[in-house]
Amino acid sequence: MEGIVLRSTGSWYDVRTPQGDSYKCRLRGKLRLKGFKTTNPVAVGDRVHFEIEDEASKSGLIVDIEARRNYIIRQSVHRTAHAHLIACNIDQAILIATLAMPRTSFGFIDRFLVSCEAYDVPAVIVFNKTDILTDEGLAYQAEIMDMYTSIGYRCLDTSVTKHYHIDEFRALLDGKISLLSGHSGVGKSSLINAIKPELNLKTSEISHYSQKGKHTTTFAEMFELWENTFIIDTPGIKEMGLVDISPQELSHYFPEMRQYLGECKFHNCMHVHEPGCAVREAFERGEIADTRYHSYLSMLENHDNRR
Ligand code: GDP
Ligand code: ZN
Repeated sequence: MEGIVLRSTGSWYDVRTPQGDSYKCRLRGKLRLKGFKTTNPVAVGDRVHFEIEDEASKSGLIVDIEARRNYIIRQSVHRTAHAHLIACNIDQAILIATLAMPRTSFGFIDRFLVSCEAYDVPAVIVFNKTDILTDEGLAYQAEIMDMYTSIGYRCLDTSVTKHYHIDEFRALLDGKISLLSGHSGVGKSSLINAIKPELNLKTSEISHYSQKGKHTTTFAEMFELWENTFIIDTPGIKEMGLVDISPQELSHYFPEMRQYLGECKFHNCMHVHEPGCAVREAFERGEIADTRYHSYLSMLENHDNRR
């Protein structure tokens, strides 16, 4: 049998078959020892092979795990300990942002994008609550969307209140495993309700949509919207953290900086104020957005503070 892991407690895994049946599976002992140094060998999003142990109680035994397209781990704060596998095979990470009420900062958006680059997960930014923006606000939002689009990130502007681009939002999710992220209050529950009203999520409570959602912060949960369409509720984007990104590699996770990286005078250039820095020059020519370069500097700085 084949299926996808929707939920894990660490000892049991809820596995959904393509036919829509659910099995409670354990791991065959041998699998625990295989490969990968994480505290948990299987996570939400994993595609697994299992044997049915008991059809009546719908229980099974996971015997194999398919190769992963990508995965998100959380590094232990104690560097010596193993990392924790949060989710696998993510088609896209969607950041729900708002330019007002509450305003999502560029720093937050850019940290999210850097994490996605590092984990090799395509990122999308959805700007919600466009209905509360003034004409100036809308023009500003269009500029920001252009900027992010130009460096390769898909953007979508939505309003739940005005039912604007809700079909586009639905199409964005359709057939995919999406990780949904964003500050509390930006409209995550409202957007999901808008595309699947029968869920009737309490707004501001998306993390409770699966009832068991938040009793543990350790395990992510995958939630089925409709056939082949899932969203992942992670314990939080912060957990996707920048812990294992070194200052030297940070610029590689800014797509618009990559093309200049080989042109700096010093091979170990950090692109701050070194002479002959091609990144800095590109920034000064206006080829790298102010907000992005500042996010870069601030991430570098925060990294230094942590040590
Ligand atoms: P979550 O915490 O991200 O799940 O956000 P919610 O979905 O709970 O929404 C927070 C508040 O914003 C609620 O009062 C929603 O009614 C409101 N809201 C959500 N989407 C929109 C929108 O597009 N426009 C406006 N004006 N309000 C919205
Ligand atoms: Zn440089």
